[in-house]
Amino acid sequence: VSYRCAACGTPYPLSSHRFRCDCGSYLNVDDSELFGGQDLAGPPGGIWRYRKCFGLPENVTPVSMGEGNTPILTFEIDDAKLHLKMDFLQPSGSFKDRGASVLVSALKHTGVKQVVEDSSGNAGAALSAYAAAAGIGVTVFVPYYTQEGKVVQMKMYGANVLRVPGKRQDANIEALRAAQGCVYASHLWNPYFVRGLSSAAYEIWEKMGQELPQAVIVPVGSGGFLEGLHYGFCTLKRAGLAGSSPRLIGVQAARCAPIHYAFVNDMEDSTDIEEEKTIAEGIAVQRPPRARAVLAALRNSGGYTVTVEEGEITEAAKRLGRMGLFVEPTSASVLAAWLKIERRDREGALLVLTGSGLKAATTYGGLVGTVER
Ligand SMILES: [Zn+2]
Repeated sequence: VSYRCAACGTPYPLSSHRFRCDCGSYLNVDDSELFGGQDLAGPPGGIWRYRKCFGLPENVTPVSMGEGNTPILTFEIDDAKLHLKMDFLQPSGSFKDRGASVLVSALKHTGVKQVVEDSSGNAGAALSAYAAAAGIGVTVFVPYYTQEGKVVQMKMYGANVLRVPGKRQDANIEALRAAQGCVYASHLWNPYFVRGLSSAAYEIWEKMGQELPQAVIVPVGSGGFLEGLHYGFCTLKRAGLAGSSPRLIGVQAARCAPIHYAFVNDMEDSTDIEEEKTIAEGIAVQRPPRARAVLAALRNSGGYTVTVEEGEITEAAKRLGRMGLFVEPTSASVLAAWLKIERRDREGALLVLTGSGLKAATTYGGLVGTVER
């Protein structure tokens, strides 16, 4: 048994290639192994250092390209100190490599040769990269508005990329249709992807001298990163290595904020909301399938959600650029949020910068111009 339904408890083996339960709910990794200090005894560097937390069978061979182990920089803005985790410094240029490495390792282990995925870009790029490394074929459905740079990147990895007219949700529907005949390697649904993302939590703890910051600010689309971080921080606590989880602050674009809406209205699951086009395309997820887990993680950590407007995202991106950090709008949203929250949460907070600015070159070109006359 590798998967267990989060709602009704039905178990499924890894080889079932399930992305959800017959009852419709998302699945969790079914494991009982406890993580301990001895599991951190190996040499530093790389997410596979934390593999015991992934819940994969022991004989799974990692498909790894040096993901993880990203630096944390410390800055001072408006008399407050903040830490920036440079998670865009990964093989495919985004934090999703953490999840893709673990998910693709599981796929390869079970002999999968061909998968479908839907993505606004970063997850598709990460999955395409790791699938290429593992010799697995990929078809990615992307929304029509996906940045050229991300599409080109996926194609260079050998993926078959199909643009879907309509919204992000329409790419999801197309992928679900195509998945009926093959494996749907969904970063939105798959719990191993989330476990891979949890590796960032252990890194934060190790790199900050075995301490945790009071607050961690992270962009929220499907919310997988927030869920993964919470899982990681709770694992450290269970192992007796850290105290309480940092307050998790989830950032959504005001134009597409289903998790925020559910959070402020005391709902346990997200509901259908209108999605408008946002510059932060990486967090435009209208129907996050693991929303229940994300909302529980937010509340459990004593955290909350913040929405940011388009102009605030752009300003934050420019400000980061002037600090020497070129990140995509989705990433810049965390600084936009940090500038808005109460001072007690600002001091010493850690912000995760999730994706490279090179992925959004077209958008930024429209902002700063590209041709001198
Ligand atoms: Zn179920």
